[in-house]
Amino acid sequence: MMGDRIFCRIARREAPAEVVYEDEKSMAFMDINPATPGHTLLIPKAHFRNIFDLDEETAAHLMRVAVKLAPVIREAMGADGLNILNANEPAAFQSVFHFHLHLIPRTFGDGIRPPWISRPGDPAQIKAAAERIRKALEGRKA
Ligand code: 5GP
Repeated sequence: MMGDRIFCRIARREAPAEVVYEDEKSMAFMDINPATPGHTLLIPKAHFRNIFDLDEETAAHLMRVAVKLAPVIREAMGADGLNILNANEPAAFQSVFHFHLHLIPRTFGDGIRPPWISRPGDPAQIKAAAERIRKALEGRKA
């Protein structure tokens, strides 16, 4: 897919981007289709498709950087809050297949809506889902 390697190229400075942060393992740059002003993408420089192949050490590094960047972006943009968003696979809205965190400054009245309607679920279904996940986790420990 055409977009697959664009973030690798940005990480290697082979493709243009408005870079705001860089270290040995990660880079943050502005999204070209911002949801709100200041919408920033944080990526590992190494290629991972998404959370399903990301290693824990890289994930920990990215979250440390996100914790550093979030208040700075919020303050710089005069935002009231910030969403961190991450899409994994097309079913979950992923369109660029290089792991990234969206850091989206939020302001009261910015018009961004939650992607789902929050309403009470069926307690039996919730319980059944919890059982499936606990069982799957047990399977991994063995
Ligand atoms: P996803 O849908 O995979 O979670 O998000 C991909 C994001 O990358 C989108 O918000 C899109 O606007 C952004 N994007 C796609 N191509 C480029 C590009 O070439 N440069 C930059 N800076 N952002 C891009």
